[in-house]
Parts: sequence; C-alpha cells; structure tokens
Amino acid sequence: MPSFAFSGEAFASAFTSLGEKYAVWGPKRLKGRGRFFGTDLVTYAPLQTFDELETDEKSAMSPKSVVFPPDETLFYFTGDHFSEPPLEDERETIVFLRPCDINGFRRLDAMFLENGGTADPFYLRRREKLHFFMIECRESFENCFCVSMGSNTTENYAAAFRFGEDSVEVEVKDPRFAQFFASGTPSSFTPEFVNENVKKVTVPAVEEMPPELFVSPLWDEYDSRCIACGRCNTSCVTCTCFSSLDLFYSDSRNCGERRRVWDGCHLDGFSDMAGGHSFRKKKGERMRFKTFHKIYDFRKRFGYDMCVGCGRCDDVCPEYISFSECIDRVSEALKGGEVQ
Ligand code: SF4
Ligand code: SF4
Repeated sequence: MPSFAFSGEAFASAFTSLGEKYAVWGPKRLKGRGRFFGTDLVTYAPLQTFDELETDEKSAMSPKSVVFPPDETLFYFTGDHFSEPPLEDERETIVFLRPCDINGFRRLDAMFLENGGTADPFYLRRREKLHFFMIECRESFENCFCVSMGSNTTENYAAAFRFGEDSVEVEVKDPRFAQFFASGTPSSFTPEFVNENVKKVTVPAVEEMPPELFVSPLWDEYDSRCIACGRCNTSCVTCTCFSSLDLFYSDSRNCGERRRVWDGCHLDGFSDMAGGHSFRKKKGERMRFKTFHKIYDFRKRFGYDMCVGCGRCDDVCPEYISFSECIDRVSEALKGGEVQ
C-alpha cells in the first residue's frame, strides 16, 4: 500500500480537496461547550478545514451520529401518502475515527443490518456512503480498555493517518483516494496500534449466565448512585436504542412526520409499556441489563462482545460509575462458580 508524508500546510490543502468532493466528519473541539465551566466538548461534526480536526484528544461523543443521528425525520406523511426527506448531504462521507470506533461500526452494522433479518433502510442509506479514515492510536487514553475487548486493531479502513506536530503521514488503502494524496512525499508509514491499556478488564467467559447473578446484591449499589442521566448510553458507540415519535401538524391531523430519537436503557420511561407497566424501574436493574447486553447477550447472538472498550461511558458519567469496574465485578462474582 502506498504511503505519503506531508507538512501540516500541504496536508491542509489535500484535506480541502477532499472536502470539495466528500462530506468530511471527524472529532471537533467546540470551545466552551464542555461539561464544566470553561471546558471544551470534543464531539463528532462535519469539518470544513484540517485545523478543525481534533487529533490529540478522545472525543466525548462517538462517531455513531454520522449514521444514526440523535434526532432524525424518517418520513413525512400526508393522508395515505408518505415521502422520505433527502439526506442533509447526499455526497459520500469520510469519517476520521480510531480503531475501537471502526470496530464499533461492526456492532452497529450487526444491530441495524443483521439483527432480525431485515436491514434498517434509514441506517443503510447513510452507512453505504461511508469511508473510514483511521486515526492511528498508539497510546491509550484514560479509561480505555480496548485491548481487553480485542478492539484495538483493525484492517477495515480506506486510509490511515499519523498526525505529528507539523506533519501528517498517510497510508492509502483504497485507490479511490490515491489522487488526493499523490502530492505527498513517498514514505514507509504503516499504522501501529496500542497493545496495552492501563485499564485491563476480565470479560466473563460463560456460556450461560447463572440466574443468581440477575438478582445479585452487586447491582444494588447502582440504585442509589446512578441518576439515570443516560450519558453512558448517548456517548457509547455501540448503543443503538431509539424511540419513534409521530408528530402531527397542528393545522391537519392527517399530516405530520415520524421521527426517531436516541433513547437508552438507563433513562426513565425507556421500558414503560401500555397499561402502566414498566420493567427495570430500579437503576441497578438497568445497569445489569446494559452490562449483560454489552458482554454477554450480544455475544450469544453474534459471537463477539458488543462493548469495544472505548471507555467513554466511564469518561462522561457524572456519578463516577465505572463500567469497566462493573465488568470486573461480574467476573469476580462468577469466579469459582460463586455468585455474590
Ligand atoms: S459500554 Fe462503554 S466502553 Fe463499552 S463501547 Fe460503550 S461507551 Fe465504550
Ligand atoms: S452516565 Fe452514570 S449516572 Fe448517568 S445513567 Fe449512566 S451510569 Fe447512570
């Protein structure tokens, strides 16, 4: 695979050329929009110029919003006719992202395209336009445990990038993008991957989760600590739950639109049902549900774990609840067949 080296300025020009043909997304720093006064938010957004691409910091939000927006109109209806809105940008899309997130897209594909045997057309129409531009990740960020989840490496990218102080190296795998980088100096760059995280977890390797663990006291602590804010769900690259809403326009009850908006298993009302029934009222029950889905139920269906160990849920939890600690607590409880 050919590789090229650029100065920062020369790469900025190549980036602009890409943006003339493709929609380009990546991690972007929003000044003053962070959780605390005077802090920034790094989130996924469309990029116009290279200097908008945040290459040093882990994003608080994941790239799933590129294919699964937080709030999306699926179709408009008038009487018995309906129409789909065009995409905000009909061009093919490039997204800059790290290896764990590329592996996260494998999970999103499983949920939206394979689960239940019918592909979700609203996801598919965005997903089939997507190209992965991998940001090389050689050092672990705080709370990452991608190595334990086997999500630290990938070969699934169109191009890979190493960003230096005033230099960029790129390996071009997909020949469709070769023209944009041909002005660089040939180099021997091949991406490397982080091979050890500070945080290591032990994923429980059980075929069947013992029923006792569903009612274990280990979940009780989360009843009082979790405040059901749902930040762990919204920041997670592999959480795919949503609610569908029909909005009727005030001038005609026959006209309106159907939207889907992100929802999450930690949020109040998520498991409400007709007749006033509600499953998982307690926060600990919600934590149990999420944990088992991420490291057990999904694996039973697809053969690999849902969680990719990006650590964002630990990064954003206002109650300092650690999901990686929770995984270890489940493993501890199972050790030697004992359930605490
Ligand atoms: S559960 Fe947490 S660590 Fe795992 S993929 Fe989601 S946000 Fe990342
Ligand atoms: S981010 Fe923390 S407090 Fe908020 S719902 Fe998730 S576990 Fe609970």
